[in-house]
Amino acid sequence: MREDWKFQRRRARLVEELREKGITNERVLRAIGSVQRHQFVDQALLSRAYLDEALPIGMQQTISQPFTVAYQSQTLDPLPGERILEIGTGSGYQAAVLAEMGATVFSIERVRGLYEKTTPLLRSLRYDIRCRFGDGMLGWETMAPFDGIIVTAGALDVPDSLLRQLRLPEGMKPGGRMVIPVGDRDQQMMTYIVRMGEDAFDDVEMEAFRFVPLLGKTTGSR
Ligand code: SAM
Repeated sequence: MREDWKFQRRRARLVEELREKGITNERVLRAIGSVQRHQFVDQALLSRAYLDEALPIGMQQTISQPFTVAYQSQTLDPLPGERILEIGTGSGYQAAVLAEMGATVFSIERVRGLYEKTTPLLRSLRYDIRCRFGDGMLGWETMAPFDGIIVTAGALDVPDSLLRQLRLPEGMKPGGRMVIPVGDRDQQMMTYIVRMGEDAFDDVEMEAFRFVPLLGKTTGSR
């Protein structure tokens, strides 16, 4: 199916805007330049699909702002073929960007209505992404270990089960890494964690963001 030229132009402008805002990873910018964000938003919001803003996707959830998607993707920097677990499938847009970068993507969504809408959408757009309905804070044990985990909702703490599903380091190769916004309801610090050994993890706090909260048993229903 040929894409409307106006969307291509808007997407190219969005890529330039992200570049101006500090995104430097060309693989990320290429992926943002390829994924058709307008396919992941409501028909009524099509005209806003390529503005750098979060948009509602129903069920009190949002598709993240493109800058946030680019920032998390740049921080995680998945290499082609790496196994990446996303927590919070939502619209499927972030998962599509990671897949476009060549990663093998697994994604978990807690809200059944979104899972049921997004799984067939990703398939219809020919993204080979394994989706699952459930509590992402528990990770995906049977598919672990992962080279990377990306959490796209705000967490109060870093879930231990996710840390345990990061790949262990092997020789000179560092262990798996995680990008997760950690904080309270109003603000979270983007945190980058690398597994250094069985029980050893390094973490760095980056910039402040504001995400919808991670839902689950351990946080009540929030
Ligand atoms: N990555 C999404 C995208 O590209 O559209 C953005 C998603 S939105 C900011 C956060 C998502 O995380 C919501 O869809 C929400 O339902 C989901 N979520 C919240 N808590 C979750 C949990 N414990 N496990 C899995 N998904 C969760």
